[in-house]
Amino acid sequence: MCPHCGKTERQIKRGRTLSGSQKYFCKDCLRVYTPNPKRREYSDEIKKQAIKLYLEGNSGLAVGRILGISKNLCLYWVKKYSKKLKPKKVFNERVEVIEMNEQYDFLNLKK
Ligand SMILES: [Zn+2]
Repeated sequence: MCPHCGKTERQIKRGRTLSGSQKYFCKDCLRVYTPNPKRREYSDEIKKQAIKLYLEGNSGLAVGRILGISKNLCLYWVKKYSKKLKPKKVFNERVEVIEMNEQYDFLNLKK
C-alpha cells in the first residue's frame, strides 16, 4: 500500500535501497516509497567524518577501513553530499570548462 495516497493498486517494484530493502513506485501519485526499510542507520557524525576523510585525499577504501564501513557506502555518502553542494552542477560542468577556456584566451590576447 502506498503510504502517500493509500492506494494498493498500480504499485510497481523499483530497485532497492542501499541497505537492500525493496522499493516501490506508486503509479497513482508518482512517488517512491520503501514499505519495510531495514534499519541500518548511521549517524550524521560518521557520515560527515567519512566525507571529510575522503575530501582530505583518502580513498573510499581507506575511509571505509578507518570508520568500519564499506567503500561503497563511503562513496555513496560523498556522492550524496556533493549533490547537495552543487545541484545540477554535473550537467553544467562541460559548459563551465569551455567558458573558463575562453576567458583564458581572452586574458592572453590582452597581453
Ligand atoms: Zn501513492
